[in-house]
Amino acid sequence: MRERIHARVPAPHGTTMCRIGDQLIVHVPGAQSVVAEVLHESGLVERTVADHSDAPLTDRQANPLGSVVALGGTATVGGVDFALIAGPCAVETHEQMSASAEMAKAGGAVALRGGAFKPRSSPYSFQGLGDEGLRIMAKVGTETGLPIVTEVVDPATVQLVAEHADVLQVGTRNAQNFSLLKAVGQAGRPVVLKRGFGCTVGEWLQAAEYVLAAGNPDVVLCERGIRSYEPATRFTLDLSAVAVVKHNSHLPVIVDPSHGTGHRHLVKPLALAAAAVGADGLLIDIHNDPASALCDADQALDRERWFDLTGALRGVLAGVGRGLTLREPELAVQA
Ligand code: PEP
Ligand code: MN
Repeated sequence: MRERIHARVPAPHGTTMCRIGDQLIVHVPGAQSVVAEVLHESGLVERTVADHSDAPLTDRQANPLGSVVALGGTATVGGVDFALIAGPCAVETHEQMSASAEMAKAGGAVALRGGAFKPRSSPYSFQGLGDEGLRIMAKVGTETGLPIVTEVVDPATVQLVAEHADVLQVGTRNAQNFSLLKAVGQAGRPVVLKRGFGCTVGEWLQAAEYVLAAGNPDVVLCERGIRSYEPATRFTLDLSAVAVVKHNSHLPVIVDPSHGTGHRHLVKPLALAAAAVGADGLLIDIHNDPASALCDADQALDRERWFDLTGALRGVLAGVGRGLTLREPELAVQA
């Protein structure tokens, strides 16, 4: 039996712990910390690493082989498989979610996206169905077996959203809402963290660090474009950031070419480029009837464009030695 350690020194302010892969990582601020020495000498710590990063838990060093995040069911993001998450920008009706979910699934998506709480730039735009939207999504999730990914905009509703959804999304406008990041870190659900459109890669990783420091290692980063001087696209999709993040962090990273470009004809080329550059998946706006979409209609793919995209994607992925993440029935067929 292991000897019990009696703490003789108080942990310095800011000490955090997070289980990443099969390791428990304790981050003790202060390079010469006496606590680090005590831990090292206890024999219970495998190694101590001097670290000067301001986001040590997200640093590649914390899990050099890269993390795989489980979304629910058999859906994962990270590793060799490439994950597709698709669905409408906003939940509108049960019929719309149901038809869009069927499309998502038929194209190979492993999870369904859709916003119930929508952070809109204008107060006059459709703000989402709120609680009712959550109930619709949860029902469609049960009917289709797809894990549900939906946005949280407020620490006060994190628990409510976590009761209905499998994955919590933090949007670009809340990417540095630190009380929200702490709350999702404690919600017991995986998190898709969009890059703030005004954030550097370093600031984005520090935002992720808030979630890990709250004890939640299940963070999927999502590049969705940054603000630049270029008006031809809604934002400027920064695909170089994907390569930078893959080098600097162990967290999986996906790309949202729908919000990044704002135009449906640009979604496919940028999606293929994201797969080629090493992203671990895509977040794509699709809609059973884009012309009637209440939110971001110009960027939503219809059935034909969605299938065209997923077909082309399979080719690019094969070229880089990867494939789409398979769902349970497909895995059963392969076994
Ligand atoms: C969304 O994915 O619905 C969304 C609002 O995205 P973003 O936060 O990237 O604008
Ligand atoms: Mn949108």
